[in-house]
Amino acid sequence: MQLYQTNELKIYNSITGEKEVFKPITEGYVGMYVCGPTVYSNVHLGNVRTFMSFDLVFRYLKHLGYKVRYVRNITDAGHLENDADVGEDRIAKKARLEQIEPMEVVQRYTVDFHNTLNKFNNLPPSIEPTATGHIIEQIEVINEIIDNGFAYVVNGSVYFDVLKFNETNEYGKLSKRKVEDLIHNTRETAGQSEKKNPQDFALWKKAEPQHIMRWPSPWSDGFPGWHLECTTMSTKYLGDHFDIHGGGMDLKFPHHECEIAQAEASTGISPVNYWMHANLLTLNGKKMAKSTGNNILPNEIFTGNNDILDKAFTPSVTRFFMLQANYRSILDFSNEALIASEKGFNRLMDAFHTIDNLKTGSSSSFDSKLWKQSCYDAMNDDFNSPILIANLFEAVKQINLIKEEKATITQEDLAIIKETMQAFIFEVLGLQDERSAQDNSSDKLTGTVELLIQLRAEARANKDFATSDKIRDQLAALGVELKDGKDGTTFSLN
Ligand code: AMP
Ligand code: ZN
Repeated sequence: MQLYQTNELKIYNSITGEKEVFKPITEGYVGMYVCGPTVYSNVHLGNVRTFMSFDLVFRYLKHLGYKVRYVRNITDAGHLENDADVGEDRIAKKARLEQIEPMEVVQRYTVDFHNTLNKFNNLPPSIEPTATGHIIEQIEVINEIIDNGFAYVVNGSVYFDVLKFNETNEYGKLSKRKVEDLIHNTRETAGQSEKKNPQDFALWKKAEPQHIMRWPSPWSDGFPGWHLECTTMSTKYLGDHFDIHGGGMDLKFPHHECEIAQAEASTGISPVNYWMHANLLTLNGKKMAKSTGNNILPNEIFTGNNDILDKAFTPSVTRFFMLQANYRSILDFSNEALIASEKGFNRLMDAFHTIDNLKTGSSSSFDSKLWKQSCYDAMNDDFNSPILIANLFEAVKQINLIKEEKATITQEDLAIIKETMQAFIFEVLGLQDERSAQDNSSDKLTGTVELLIQLRAEARANKDFATSDKIRDQLAALGVELKDGKDGTTFSLN
């Protein structure tokens, strides 16, 4: 394992409020669970930021040599409007409005989610379980909670007994809320009257006649509560006790608080060692959200098709913009910030491509080993990508000085710079060299057409007009037009 031990990885643990040295439960292995999307609409850039933050964590842990099992769920049932225990299922509502099957909604937006994250070069998780695929397991967890005395059944629904749980455990330890305060903060709405106390939350809900997403259970035909799926699927694939649990800041309460309560009530074990929460992306200073319409969609960025944008931006420029902020800081989206990121990203790429052309000598005016360590130090400090990027720009500065012959570098030091930049830019930050990919494919196209032009000239010289016409006509059909002139044949793309 390639571990930089001089400074160990520290993770900010939301439950203790401190940066702690990361010690996996099993040496060399990491189990990580991240709450996935509710697939009832297209993901907006705010959602993307959260998943990108955990992609950075996943990538860096892998880079350090850990074998990571990364589980991220798809919520395809049980998430009601307003995150509440009453109201319509978000997916069923969309299905009703569009007059399609709920599973068509799920399929459409799961595909969109995958395509979008793929464009941003997020790595797929190791396992991507769905709530509807784990109804039986969720029923088992409810049974355990009932057997342990922490849940009760009313009219075919099952509720978690928060006050009972709080007698022996600590409800509110993650979000730092006190159960007594929650009494005053919880509004009594229709359907909550079934609950013993307003803090209680649903583990299973009996379906109203019009609720179409329903499954049989020992209590009623119904559906699981939203919080339950994450407890069930995280412990099923990572065990009762695992290393890292992540999600957006807005999930801390009630979702993650309820996850802790459910897991402790069913297994008696506190489920997670390190709780990580990624901060929000804002637009005009307000949270990007589906419900308010204050959001921007990834496609609008790639096409520039949004009033707030002056132009289109590539996925890597957008990714670079996001990673220039610490995952725990709020980040505000703007056209100006993206333009600045584009400049910075291009400067980084230009410098990286210059490395191979630099002259090396017998001495270095730059300590590349020390610099390399500072890159690791940044990431070891709770995945501090903005500091890492600042360090990468330190190397950019040196590369430009060496190019102008204002600084010197040995071959060995230059090799360290190249290898470290390569690892951090592409493997850890997950940026892509979009220009060279484009240049590369246009080079290939030019080479191929020029070869065909040459073969056509040879055919004509041999009076094989059938072949020469075939080449010209078939290229034309593909949108490549050949023009014969005094100085030979040129081509244009239609
Ligand atoms: P949802 O599909 O609404 O359950 O959200 C999926 C993930 O995106 C959750 O982890 C949310 O916390 C996160 N999220 C939602 N809005 C934002 C935002 N504006 N910025 C960052 N993350 C967000
Ligand atoms: Zn969750």
